[in-house]
Parts: sequence; C-alpha cells; structure tokens
Amino acid sequence: MRRTKIVATIGPASHDPETLVRMIEAGVDVARLNFSHGTHEQHAETAERVRSAAGRAGRPVAILQDLPGPKLRIGKLKDGVVELKPGDVVTFTCGDDSDDTLGDARNMTISWAGLADAVSTGEVLYLADGAIRLRTNAVRAGEREVDALVEIGGAVASRQGVNLPNETTELPSVPEEDFEHLSAGMRMGVDMVALSFVRTPEDVLSVRERTRVPLIAKFEKPQAIDRAEEIIRASDCIMVARGDLGIELPIERVPIVQKKLLAMAGAHARPAITATQMLDSMVTSSRPTRAEVADVANAILDGTDAVMLSQETAVGQHPIGAVSMMAAIARETEKELPHDRWIESRVNRDARDPSYTVAYNACRAARELGLKALVIPTLSGRSVRLVSAHRPDVPIYCLSPGRETVRRCQLMWGVTGASMKRYEITEELIAESANRALELGWAKRGDRIGITAGLPSGRPGTTSLFQVQQL
Ligand code: PEP
Repeated sequence: MRRTKIVATIGPASHDPETLVRMIEAGVDVARLNFSHGTHEQHAETAERVRSAAGRAGRPVAILQDLPGPKLRIGKLKDGVVELKPGDVVTFTCGDDSDDTLGDARNMTISWAGLADAVSTGEVLYLADGAIRLRTNAVRAGEREVDALVEIGGAVASRQGVNLPNETTELPSVPEEDFEHLSAGMRMGVDMVALSFVRTPEDVLSVRERTRVPLIAKFEKPQAIDRAEEIIRASDCIMVARGDLGIELPIERVPIVQKKLLAMAGAHARPAITATQMLDSMVTSSRPTRAEVADVANAILDGTDAVMLSQETAVGQHPIGAVSMMAAIARETEKELPHDRWIESRVNRDARDPSYTVAYNACRAARELGLKALVIPTLSGRSVRLVSAHRPDVPIYCLSPGRETVRRCQLMWGVTGASMKRYEITEELIAESANRALELGWAKRGDRIGITAGLPSGRPGTTSLFQVQQL
C-alpha cells in the first residue's frame, strides 16, 4: 500500500472522463483545480467530472481549489509572444487589464495599478518563469509607468506572470477576486483551498474568516519563509510551491528551504505538499529523467505527505503515465522510511493536549504489538492528522460520518478513509469501527488492530482513548 499521496492538476490533458478514471486508478488522491486559468463554469464542470470519475474508480478523491493570489501578470501581446534582448528597455503601464491594449517588445501592460508606487529604480523584475531578468531604470508614478532594462533576455508570452522578489507591503494580501473564486469554490463543494503568495499569517486568517474549509498556505515568497512557523500554525496544510519560490529566492536555496519547511510542517503535525516540476520532462516524454525520479524520492524521504503534478497532468502528453510513475517511485522509496526515528521525534507534541500522547502511543503500540492497522473513527479528522504526522509503519484508516472529512484525509500521509454512521455511545463506536475494518477488508478475523477515538464520543478534537482489539 502506497503511503505518499499524489496531487494532480487537472487541465486540458486530463479533464476528459476516461482519462480521469484512469488517473484515479493509477493513484490520484487529490485533484487540483488551478483558478489562475479557466472560468468558474469550466471548474464546476471539472469538479463534477472528478466526483463522477472517483465514483467509477471506487476511491475517494479530494478537490483542491488553488487560488491565484496577488499574482502580477503582463497583458496580452500583439503576436502572443515577444523576444526580449539584453539592452532593450520595456515600458510597463500599470493597472491596465483590458484585452484591447496589445503589448510588444517596447510597451507592455501590468495588471496591478499600484506597481509604479511600490517600486523604485534599480529593482529586479522577472518574466517568463524567471528566465528573463529586468531592472527598473525609471519610475513615473504619476503616469503609472515603469521603465525596465532587460539584463537577461528570452521569449515572453501573453499574460505570463511577473515576479518582484523585493516587493512590498502595498500589494494586496488576498485580492478581492480570490474571495469571488472562493465563493464559487464553496458552491462547487471543494474540499480544500490553497492560497498563493502568502506573506503573513494574517493572509491565511483573513480567508479563514470566510470559510471553514481547510486552508493550504503556499510558500513561494521570501517574506513567507521569514515567518514560516507562524504561517504553518495558522494553516491546515502547506505547499512548498517551488515554481515561484525558485524565482523569488536564489534557485540554489530551494532544496534546503524545502527540507526545512517539510520538517517544520511535520513538527506542527501539518500535512505538506511538495510541488512543481517533479516529473517535468514527462510533459513531452514517456519517461522521466533520473534526476526527477531522485527529486520525488528525496521529497518523500524529507517527509512530504504528498507530491504534486502540475503541467505533467494539466497539459502534458502522458498524464496517466506521470501518475503511475509517481506511484511507483513512492512505493519503492517507502521501503526505506525511518519510521522509528519519525515516531519518536518528528512531531513536537503538545504536553497539554492528550490527543498527541494518544497518537504517539498508538504508533508505538502498533510497532511493539505488531498490530495490523490503526483505525480512527473521527468527526473532524484531527486525530487522524496527528497519527499520520508520526509516520507509523502500519496502515492508518479513517472512519467518519462526514464525507468531507473522508475526502480531506486523502491528502494525509498513509491514510485511507471510508464513511461510517455516527455513534454517540463509545462502546458502539469501538465495536462498529472494528466491524467496518473487517467489512472493508482492512483486517481479517484474528488480526489485532488499534483503535483511537475521542471521549465523550461526538465531540470533535477530544482524542483520549486507545484500545487494542482482536477481531
Ligand atoms: C508554484 O509556484 O510552484 C505553484 C505551485 O504555484 P502555481 O502553479 O499556482 O504558480
């Protein structure tokens, strides 16, 4: 059984129903809808298709809504693409978002009106995923214009992102459009929401005020790295978003930042996703490079809960092959995980909260007593998250009356979920958990399993019981 979860971005290459079913059968646990592209109607249709494909494949799949955040973009270009050469000067007109103004190699528009107030001369801008570097050499705030000299040239396409590593408190944390996307996502019933370009814990909290859906903070700004611990505490999950992180930080810092963020997320028992370019060559090739295979394996050894596919499944030529390859790398790498060390020291346990003690001791008991599985009836999924964070070497099973909780557990390392009725009486809850484990084939008669649950039953977040049951 694979423990690492797979997040796949759904796009033109993967949104037809047959491909979705085959991707889910190959191992997709979470389907990511990237709201930087497409209309709400298109995303609603994709969400429907994912639900129906998950039903056909017989596996729960969570839907992750990825909000664009305050991403700066250039406007449309006359010929779709322009080539910028070192020494060229580009004038950016800020705050023009209309499709009528078409840019070229000398003049481009940038969506955000505040840019001319936020930058000064001598600051670096990146275009084309960091491939093109410019430096501002004149700012005319009154006219909302910024001139920038091209230092490293290359091709840039319409509506591509602009990265401004040094920026600025002026940029809105969570733009109003994100809240519109969020409302649309709630209507579609998305299971989790990722926030892009988070810089402060307040960015996460401002969205938390509007929704109860779990929030994933994407780490892609230097300012977020500086406040990582607080942001992790404010979030339900994190994403190491290496695409923009590798532009906003010197790219050579990304591997160490990844390791530190994954360790910090583990210490706070927050699930983590490692994202971007994991199997990038599979956008066009049927086989990944050795370096990509090693990258996926290393993220798993760093303790990631999930690995993510972006272009590979959104627009690539081998969406099913990329998922199968990721699943194969995960299964092989997981033979060598340091379970003993992780159980003992991965999580900073809160000594005031018995849920941590129960989770830790459940994992130890599973090892010492050779239990077949840990079965966790839960309302909120919190106790499952705490057990998963310790990385036991036995399967973790989540049982919940809430279908959302079952789907949300799909992102957590080592967890398989299924539904069950709600029980208020503890004895019934334990007995039914054991029955469901047998019914679902999670264990056989004669096996010993561990069950953890909250007391009194029915109150979320009160895990205080651990019981060993012979089935
Ligand atoms: C990233 O930058 O790595 C990322 C996942 O974000 P996006 O794909 O939304 O740019």
